Amino acid sequence: MNKIKNICVFASSSNYLEDVYYKDAKALGQLIGQNGYNIVYGGSTLGLMWTCASEVQNNGGKVIGVMPQRLADMGCKTDNCDEFFMAVGMRDRKDKMDKISEAVIALAGGLGTLEELSEMIVQKQLGYNKKPIVILNTNGFYNKLLEFFDRIIEEKFANKMTRNLYYVAKAPQDAIDYIKNYQEPDRIPSKHEIYSR
Ligand code: AMP
Repeated sequence: MNKIKNICVFASSSNYLEDVYYKDAKALGQLIGQNGYNIVYGGSTLGLMWTCASEVQNNGGKVIGVMPQRLADMGCKTDNCDEFFMAVGMRDRKDKMDKISEAVIALAGGLGTLEELSEMIVQKQLGYNKKPIVILNTNGFYNKLLEFFDRIIEEKFANKMTRNLYYVAKAPQDAIDYIKNYQEPDRIPSKHEIYSR
């Protein structure tokens, strides 16, 4: 058994997606709650974020929101978080989300989600964290990005170990099973392991 309690979920802020994306966000939230985990997320009422977070709460988990003042001033903040942290800006917010979570799941999302996910992968690549990072590939949404990641490796912009930094889940249950069974690496990568090809 690992010590994971808080799962950080990055996800779309859009309310205009196909049903399939809300369906997976909902199912993931249910599983997070039912399996005794809490969610750390953007603290908003929007898109897949709230679809997922509200289901965590409905299923016995805690909802921990982290949002910068500017987005709260815009009226994006939900008052329904069990815990809420106001951040200075987007970078400060990511730092807080990172510090208070032990695992990461990216649902389908836009540039905001992509930026958050890439940062977490790079942090792990360079040994700043050892967390499980899961890409939930609803509807094959991330197929092209994963192809691009493969190209990065094939053309030697990164080495093959990069593929082990994240796990691609086909379904919410698969994502939760991976996190449940995750064994943290016992050490951080060496310079050779990061930069050899
Ligand atoms: P996007 O994928 O571009 O829709 O951005 C969503 C991601 O960026 C989420 O994982 C959030 O952490 C963050 N984000 C973007 N917009 C908001 C918002 N209005 N409220 C809270 N977080 C947001």
